[in-house]
Amino acid sequence: MLAIFNTLTRAKENFQALKANQVGFYVCGVTVYDYCHLGHARTYTSMDVILRYLRWSGYQVRYVRNITDIDDKIIKRANENGENYNELTSRFIKAMHEDFAALGLLAPNDEPRATDYIPQMINLIQTMIAKQYAYLASNGDVCFEVRSFKDYGCLSHHDIEQLESGARVEVSDVKRDPLDFVLWKLAKPGEPAWDSPWGKGRPGWHIECSAMSMALLGEQFDIHAGGRDLIFPHHENEIAQSQACTDKKFANFWMHAGFLQIEKEKMSKSLGNFVTIRDILREHSPEVVRYFLIANHYRSPLMYTADVMQQSKQALARFYTALRFLSAADPIENTDFEMQFKTAMDDDFNTPVALSALFELAHEIQRLRDKGEEERAARHGALLKELGGVLGILQTDPNAFFQTGHEVNAEKINVLITARQQARQERNWAEADRIRQELTEMKVVIEDGAAGTTWKYVG
Ligand code: AMP
Ligand code: ZN
Repeated sequence: MLAIFNTLTRAKENFQALKANQVGFYVCGVTVYDYCHLGHARTYTSMDVILRYLRWSGYQVRYVRNITDIDDKIIKRANENGENYNELTSRFIKAMHEDFAALGLLAPNDEPRATDYIPQMINLIQTMIAKQYAYLASNGDVCFEVRSFKDYGCLSHHDIEQLESGARVEVSDVKRDPLDFVLWKLAKPGEPAWDSPWGKGRPGWHIECSAMSMALLGEQFDIHAGGRDLIFPHHENEIAQSQACTDKKFANFWMHAGFLQIEKEKMSKSLGNFVTIRDILREHSPEVVRYFLIANHYRSPLMYTADVMQQSKQALARFYTALRFLSAADPIENTDFEMQFKTAMDDDFNTPVALSALFELAHEIQRLRDKGEEERAARHGALLKELGGVLGILQTDPNAFFQTGHEVNAEKINVLITARQQARQERNWAEADRIRQELTEMKVVIEDGAAGTTWKYVG
């Protein structure tokens, strides 16, 4: 039985879908004013693995990941660049799609953009005003009155008094309470604006996710997720808005990914210390990046260093060594390896433990091969590939894994290997050894086997 750690209750709870076998899964998406960084990759790869595992377990999942295509940071950056806000967002949406595809993230079923859901947001705000959860402030903004919502703090586990004293909320004489947050912001001249009953303006950040998730998944759905910085205030405010409108529990499970850090600081666009996904993919293959991201549990913080990338590559090399030279076969069924993998993943998607089950499986393949049990080795190999696929790894051809890398010149290597074979045929051992030495210096290991000569890059 799948258990998921729910931020709402701070406990692992057995997962029960609201509708049998159907899961509504909403993840807060990117604010598109710059290139996506490794921190985004951390959160969205974690969610990608969760999505793949739910589907592999038999659930029909509707996966929604929105795009925040209007907010203060977008407007500021567009002004700095002297471009229209939607030119800026279109460029970075395109870049995000390229980066996410390169990382092998499955496309969401729906990818709603905030600016396409303004009428739904206005509807929700009108309901909140009618039910006296929201008010028109003296500066023309519409604000949510936090103290009117009795469960405020249920997700972040703070009571209002604590939040009031701890929060860095700006002092404002227009809000009734400093914790109140903006639902609709009156536009300043020249800012992008939409018509509303409260004049031309734009939505506050939090309301967009209540509107998009409820429009696509219904007033109640199964899982709502994001990085852990979103617990407060974003998700806390989403709960307040949504439940104020519907009087129903909003999302059942709240899941939050731990932060990717760089030199102990969180990696973020606003801190300017970020490594973009495209930067990292110039140095490492997408699979190495994914391995690095899933080798720790999704809720733990994750530190990015050059060493750990090297270790990820070595770990994958161990798997691909086991998968090399196996013939095609159907996966073996009902093994302890698969059971251990499932048990780990059912325990709040424990990928590090699931990976250790896969390492056991890789060892078994080697043992079977050593015993000459080629067919059983092949069937275990097929299982390793299937379970690896649930984590989004091990789908590369093993030879291609060993023969690619930005430093590898495959053409030159093949020319040298052919020249070496020629030298051997001519019994020119000195020349054959010289070529082998040249290949060794290029960090290429050649393996002469029954099926001919193959090579791998070991840099
Ligand atoms: P943003 O583009 O800043 O709105 O963030 C989009 C998503 O990425 C949110 O769920 C954030 O929590 C997540 N995120 C941003 N930075 C990091 C990071 N350093 N580590 C993990 N997740 C992050
Ligand atoms: Zn959101």
